[in-house]
Amino acid sequence: MPVLVLDDALIARLKYSSRRASFFCHAVESLDRALRERGSQLTVRRGPLVATLRALAKGAQAQGVVWSYSYDAQGIRDEAELQSAFEESGLRAIGVHDAPAVPPEETTAAKASPGDGYVALAPYAEVWRAAEMASYEAPLLLRFAQADLTNEPLPSPHEFGCTDTEERASAALASDQLRHFLEYDAPQYTEAVNVPAEDRTSRLSAHLSFGTIAARSIVRETQQRAENGLLLAEERASFRRFLRSLAQRDFFLQLAWYHCADEKRSLQEKMRTFPFAEKHAELESWKEGRTGYPLVDAGIRQLHQTGWMHPRVRSVAASFLCFDLGVDWRVGLQEWDRHLIEDDPALAIGNWQWVAGVGADLAAYPRIYNPIKQARRFDPHGKYVRHWIPELAHRPAVLLRSPEALALELPLYGSAGYPQPVLDHAREARAFLSSYNEFIGQAGVPQSSPR
Ligand SMILES: Cc1cc2nc3c(=O)[nH]c(=O)nc-3n(C[C@H](O)[C@H](O)[C@H](O)COP(=O)(O)OP(=O)(O)OC[C@H]3O[C@@H](n4cnc5c(N)ncnc54)[C@H](O)[C@@H]3O)c2cc1C
Repeated sequence: MPVLVLDDALIARLKYSSRRASFFCHAVESLDRALRERGSQLTVRRGPLVATLRALAKGAQAQGVVWSYSYDAQGIRDEAELQSAFEESGLRAIGVHDAPAVPPEETTAAKASPGDGYVALAPYAEVWRAAEMASYEAPLLLRFAQADLTNEPLPSPHEFGCTDTEERASAALASDQLRHFLEYDAPQYTEAVNVPAEDRTSRLSAHLSFGTIAARSIVRETQQRAENGLLLAEERASFRRFLRSLAQRDFFLQLAWYHCADEKRSLQEKMRTFPFAEKHAELESWKEGRTGYPLVDAGIRQLHQTGWMHPRVRSVAASFLCFDLGVDWRVGLQEWDRHLIEDDPALAIGNWQWVAGVGADLAAYPRIYNPIKQARRFDPHGKYVRHWIPELAHRPAVLLRSPEALALELPLYGSAGYPQPVLDHAREARAFLSSYNEFIGQAGVPQSSPR
């Protein structure tokens, strides 16, 4: 009997981002449709998780409950409570690792202390590559119960205050998207993942986070494609790079599984007291995509308009917040959470901590991205910047790559509303490094310098 419980925590998250709510509702609707084609339907309830499921199990005379694990602190706590409550009532309670391609326990089994998981990506990815990929998809052995219970309506976007966006989602759409990506874009993934204007990464993140596609299916299909003996060396490297992205997803899920008792705490102990700021005079400029650094602003505007941002630009824009403004990574995490469709706290936290130099990236110094050099290298013709910043649509590419040149030129042509750089990147980056080195020195850790 397939069940969806909308508890307060889920409702609050859906109210937080209207694109996410719309995507979720369409995914649920398509799941219900698929179940009806198989003679069943989704049973929907609104209420507290444990009490609602217990009442439902009683009404349907169920022997137990099976669910797909969560990887955020609240979800992990709620599901532990669910497990004890069911077991105390003599019912079975089985959680399964449905979100990752490889369950955490499978990669950690080889470790001396399996309960800790991996905190570094490289050794994790090696074990991940060698892991067997389970298949739950075929043959479909499920038979559905016919419980005669009244049902609540499916969730609708309006219920979460979402009126202005329409994000389509279904398993069929996700499979089509994967097929198209593997056929046309995956062979160039090493470039796609760096060049934002091309827009040729898989764009499967939201589907993965809501389960309209399984990570296992993506990995299996990618591995099959990668075995094609006719691939050129770069194409083979691209498939390998894409598999590494999927391994990175599983890495952050297992990191959250083993380490997220307090998910808002930095993973690196020595960085937990680093004095990141909560506020900055230009914080609003960053939030609005008006820093005067075109690549950063283009990324933020892409996020506002689409609910997604290209991966390379995410790193550059996040680095700007943490190092140029010196603002706490949690401020950025919360801000982007309002706009992203993806609903993956483990991946968001893991990546934000990585960029801020307080998480699983064990580099000995903060990786401060230079937004000018990044634009020069990865958006050399200003195609991405022009697309997302209409004020700059007609500026020559050479100006878009250099905010200083752009700033000089703005008064000549009229700025059309685009701001001058709100700060000097080089100066702020050096100031950050100086306070970082001072902090590390005081904490008794060897000093670092930029590479
Ligand atoms: C500051 C910051 C915040 C981020 N926040 C999120 C987030 O909230 N949710 C999220 O899903 N991803 C997040 N990422 C990771 C990554 O940017 C996105 O997964 C990716 O941009 C999604 O686009 P795609 O599906 O086209 O990815 P592709 O490049 O096509 O990759 C395929 C899949 O691999 C996984 N993947 C790729 N890169 C990463 C990565 N660095 N870490 C973990 N998994 C990865 C994702 O599930 C992705 O959908 C963040 C990255 C940064 C730097």
